[in-house]
Amino acid sequence: MNEFELIQHFFTRSACAQGGENISLGIGDDCALLQIPAEHRCAVSTDTLVSGIHFPDQAPAFLLGQRALAVAVSDLAAMGATPIGFTLAITLPQIDADWLQAFSEGLSLMAQRCSIGLIGGDTTRGPLALTLTVMGAVPTQQALLRSGAQLGDLLCVSGALGAAAAAVPVVLAEIDRHTIPEATLQQLLAAYWTPQPQLQLGHYLRGKAHAALDISDGLLADCGHIAKASQLCLQIQQAAVPVAMAARQLLGDSAALQCALSGGDDYQLAFTLAPCELARLQHAFPAVQVIGQVCAGAGVQLLDAAGQSIVRSYSGYQHFN
Ligand code: ADP
Ligand code: MG
Repeated sequence: MNEFELIQHFFTRSACAQGGENISLGIGDDCALLQIPAEHRCAVSTDTLVSGIHFPDQAPAFLLGQRALAVAVSDLAAMGATPIGFTLAITLPQIDADWLQAFSEGLSLMAQRCSIGLIGGDTTRGPLALTLTVMGAVPTQQALLRSGAQLGDLLCVSGALGAAAAAVPVVLAEIDRHTIPEATLQQLLAAYWTPQPQLQLGHYLRGKAHAALDISDGLLADCGHIAKASQLCLQIQQAAVPVAMAARQLLGDSAALQCALSGGDDYQLAFTLAPCELARLQHAFPAVQVIGQVCAGAGVQLLDAAGQSIVRSYSGYQHFN
């Protein structure tokens, strides 16, 4: 099988490449053509996943396909954008038909969940790596930026945190999975392999949230991005941070809390909005929790039950450190 047969067989003919709303032309020409609805902006984001850095070398292909796309689409959710299409640049060490078939099926499953179509890509030989570029549409003026937080806003997260970070030693087989209760194990693996981009919430928050992002590097580090871009301080009540049950069952309360605060890969949304929006929001999205507020100052402050600042480092994951 050569490069063109590979593309044809595993990508052009895959379920996720059969068109979709606002895709005028998909795979096969020099470019794909997208339709951006009137009064909308095109939201674009790229993510690269390198084998051995972002996922284990022996990662199951079906799960890897799901995770790679979920991680990328999460950025569209965080922007309040509706997905349209994505490109896939894939670097493969060799042509392994079984691997490619499973990868393409995983990719298609997540694409279907997110209503996004594969519109093109590039195929090269080398150590396994994936670059996905996602494109979506968001009404002009309604994109959820990091820079819009306002004094007096509540700081919220879309759901429990920490399970994906807790799952890493399990995924890497540093912890024997047979020692973990089955239900806990399944929750941990799902959190790591199949994060669910918060597209419906992102859509709801258009024109309501003042600032938002998805939590990929850890709650504290990512809230730091909102604080910096908005030139305000984000205060977080440590006791209010929702910690995933599966993380607590695996690691105990204290280590699970650290995963929730500083572990990455949750792909929940963190956002700020006016207090008057809260009741309706939580009615529509019961998993949303208030964890703090926006106040004058700079950076992120983590507070204990007595309102005292807890000093800690929260730089998140950085590749060149
Ligand atoms: P070009 O040389 O013009 O860049 P290619 O020969 O690399 O085109 O690719 C041919 C077509 O197949 C293009 O439409 C491209 O977007 C698509 N394509 C290549 N690799 C992939 C892939 N991994 N997934 C999806 N589409 C791909
Ligand atoms: Mg090419």
